[in-house]
Amino acid sequence: MTADIVSDYLTSPLPRRRSVAVDVGGVLVGGDAPVVVQSMTNTDTADIDATVAQVAALHRAGSELVRITVDRDESAAAVPHIRDRLARLNIDVPLIGDFHYIGHKLLADHPACAEALAKYRINPGNVGFREKKDVQFGSIVETAIRYNKPVRIGVNWGSLDQELLTRLMDENQANGFPLTAQQVMREAIVQSALISAQMAEEIGLGRDRIILSAKVSQVQDLISVYAELAKRSNHSLHLGLTEAGMGSKGIVASSAAMGILLQQGIGDTIRISLTPEPGGDRTREVQVAQELLQTMGFRQFVPVVAACPGCGRTTSTVFQELAHKIQEDIRRNMPIWREQYPGVEELQVAVMGCIVNGPGESKHANIGISLPGTGETPAAPVFVDGKKVATLRGPRIAEEFEQMLATYIENRYGMPKVQPEQVPA
Ligand code: SF4
Repeated sequence: MTADIVSDYLTSPLPRRRSVAVDVGGVLVGGDAPVVVQSMTNTDTADIDATVAQVAALHRAGSELVRITVDRDESAAAVPHIRDRLARLNIDVPLIGDFHYIGHKLLADHPACAEALAKYRINPGNVGFREKKDVQFGSIVETAIRYNKPVRIGVNWGSLDQELLTRLMDENQANGFPLTAQQVMREAIVQSALISAQMAEEIGLGRDRIILSAKVSQVQDLISVYAELAKRSNHSLHLGLTEAGMGSKGIVASSAAMGILLQQGIGDTIRISLTPEPGGDRTREVQVAQELLQTMGFRQFVPVVAACPGCGRTTSTVFQELAHKIQEDIRRNMPIWREQYPGVEELQVAVMGCIVNGPGESKHANIGISLPGTGETPAAPVFVDGKKVATLRGPRIAEEFEQMLATYIENRYGMPKVQPEQVPA
């Protein structure tokens, strides 16, 4: 490896791994498509009202695919109604059915569910046991072929195929333990996904109908397993750290693992599996997924607000409150802005706490404000496209800056107004 290649590897993402694109209800996953953000509901799918509301919220937050649990007859029966209710709300988001243990039966007994879903998720570790395993797996794959739907073969180490793991452990022992137990477990996860994919293809499901995932809960295991899957196949890959946990722990662990894989060009769709705080907002997982892709420079979803951390030079809470409020306003308005202001997701805003880095950072943003720090004149210069355009003073600095931001967005990203004389007679 030459020094140039080493430096490129360290400073730029590697080219995206070539995978076979899969069409999931009109959303392409893999191939040349951008990395897709997806999420999962935590409502009882049989509760149609609650599930429709949560799918709608996840989609409005930016989820491009939404997975729902299909665990029993009542859930399967609810699926077509959920799809129809969403359509009436003009929410066109592909729904993915998450099946465990009895997916073959639910799909066979509820053809309207099989038709309404855009993709089926199968877990090879619990699709069936012993002699029933292959038959039930085959039945789901045949349903997918009949309805022209893709599947995700989603291995999870918590429900790993125990027969496969035992066989690989025995082989490792017979060979004098060349691999550690952890290495055997990683190999079993990879093999479970690849063997199942091969079986599905032998039954007749095209590779352009198969997405693979292999979720584990430890960062190093995840990186290792996906690096191996990426090397041994060209299937489209769904990335996710399972049981990532709550709050900052879940966010950091998911971002660390997936950030490294994405930097290596691995991954076609991501889900951040955060445990919500009690009463917390389920859409947080969508926000984190978007922020991961956006901060790494792979996609643009929402305007970026650069804010300094604040320090002993920050005079008051005005600075934190303004940065927080602008960030929240942007998130809240994005579903409308996306339609009204094409390109607004590229906007960069800076909210800075004092003169040290404030003017410099603000000049780099499209619009930025440098609030006065301790001992500074109580004035806040505002910069637009690198030039100082105003100095705000007094108790209404925050409101005035918000108004300037709104005007900037309207002028820069608003659709040109049709002049009366341009309207055809
Ligand atoms: S810009 Fe000023 S207030 Fe913000 S962290 Fe730097 S020195 Fe502190």
